[in-house]
Amino acid sequence: MKKTSLQFLQAHTNMTSVIGELVPGLFGSAANFNGDTTPYSLFVETVEQVPIAISITDKKAKILYVNEEFSKVTGYKPEDILGENESVLSDKRTPRAVYYDLWHTIRSKKVWRGTLCNRHKSGHRYIADLTIAPMLNEQGVISHYIGMHRDITLAHEADKRVINQKLLIESVINSSPIAMVVIDDEDKVILDNHNYKALVSDLDKGEPAAYFLHLLREEMGGLWMELQTNEQGFNNREFRIESKAGRRARWFSCAGNWFKENEVHADAFFDNVSKQYLILTITDISRQRRQMEELHIQTLKTVMSEDERVRSIRETLLGAIHQIHMPMNQIRAAEQILKHKCEAQNAGLLQILQQIQHSGEEAIATMQNCIPEILQTAVIPVNINQILHEVLLLNDQRIWGNGIDVHWQPLAELPSILGSENRLRVLFHQLLDNAIDAVCASDTGEQRIKITTDADADLLYVSIEDTGPGIPMEKRSKVFEPFYTTRVLGGHKAGMGLVMAKEIVNQHHGFIDIDPSYDQGCRFKISFPLHRQELGRLG
Ligand code: FAD
Repeated sequence: MKKTSLQFLQAHTNMTSVIGELVPGLFGSAANFNGDTTPYSLFVETVEQVPIAISITDKKAKILYVNEEFSKVTGYKPEDILGENESVLSDKRTPRAVYYDLWHTIRSKKVWRGTLCNRHKSGHRYIADLTIAPMLNEQGVISHYIGMHRDITLAHEADKRVINQKLLIESVINSSPIAMVVIDDEDKVILDNHNYKALVSDLDKGEPAAYFLHLLREEMGGLWMELQTNEQGFNNREFRIESKAGRRARWFSCAGNWFKENEVHADAFFDNVSKQYLILTITDISRQRRQMEELHIQTLKTVMSEDERVRSIRETLLGAIHQIHMPMNQIRAAEQILKHKCEAQNAGLLQILQQIQHSGEEAIATMQNCIPEILQTAVIPVNINQILHEVLLLNDQRIWGNGIDVHWQPLAELPSILGSENRLRVLFHQLLDNAIDAVCASDTGEQRIKITTDADADLLYVSIEDTGPGIPMEKRSKVFEPFYTTRVLGGHKAGMGLVMAKEIVNQHHGFIDIDPSYDQGCRFKISFPLHRQELGRLG
């Protein structure tokens, strides 16, 4: 039969008195130890078989008893270790301060709990989760210590691995140039990285996650719920964010992925409860956007200058045809007069006149053939804010070069109108061009241009005002007439800009006028209907 540590102890030490002292009065006499079934022997068997390493020592940590599990955990059989100090288990790596604290605690009659590095009999180290309790005799004096420990090396390694993985993930996430955030199903931020934290102060919009979630939900509508329910991700959702005063607007691209995690708290131990999280990544794409915008503006400049070139060739040719028509009409009238007077006498002259007319008509026909076609542009929903923004960029150099203070106040949620992007760009380019000329010509000192957009249920409004010399009241009705200019000698301008502007506004069924109530310069007020469908294509 297997000889237990208890039987070994009984043979070599006064173990019964040790146990007896540990549980005074609980089991009655310790004399019943030998193989009986009293509670006392049950207790002893329990201690012997309990799956935790138990040792009982005297006041100096000399080992008097160990159970079976102790032998399993430490590798020491009772005969190897009884009579030895517990320090045989010490790996000598545990800091002195830990032992000092251990002894200070147990000598103060308190229970000590902690983790030590122990050495197995075979030499390998293991992590011991140790509890030491002092045992007091009837006089309240410490008589023994009882130690209980478990080998928690595997759990410790698993914990460390989880911590290492977390640190690794955190360092990977932190080194990412993208702002990342994990949000729970109540929109609370659970985890974020350095770049996300930087956004908090950079954006000045409160919690950036809440701000972007709001934008995403608004933009995606029902699709958001659908993707969330099916745990399908999304990406490339781009938003333009107006920055703090004086700074340029920024662009961000958002991507997201939902994932589920099993709940860890005790309530969910037997139920398979999981919680949904969203990993949201927010990338600042302002630089790429600006590059694209610059490219777009360059293209627009080319398109607009080509459009301008075509229109000026048209105007020149039409003007020339008009000019030729006047002498041609006079020649035709002269021919009629000569025919009436004496056709026979003036036959030679009549022939010459007819030849001139013929050549003139040929010249007009040739010129008409040379008139270039204006490109027709499609009618599509147009974002007027975007057009005005582009027009401002197109005039960037003139604005900055002349030190003009531009107040750009777009309505945030401006509805689009149906129209031709090109024609509307030409319209606002013309009006802004005029405003820049006006403020540059002003001698009042303040050089300011203010552009605002607004809308009500039926109309969209644009206002472009400047602090230039303004247009005198009596001339206001004439500025929309062809070849009329308020400039001295007309400069290089032919006085056709506002005619064209009015034509474009008319094509869009809109209305343009000069605000009579504004007296610090000139303010053009333009309005467009919001609900018209029948524009077709515009040239
Ligand atoms: P030691 O010279 O033994 O002691 C180091 C320091 O501990 C001393 O400087 C002193 O501050 C303090 N100290 C030691 N003995 C006493 C004492 N009798 N009274 C007051 N202070 C004292 N250690 C382990 O490493 N692993 C174990 O699993 C373990 N289990 C224990 C179980 C019990 C029930 C008890 C009572 C102690 C246990 N110890 C254990 C502690 C062990 O007794 C040693 O103190 C420890 O191992 C350090 O041993 P050491 O040889 O490095 O230094």
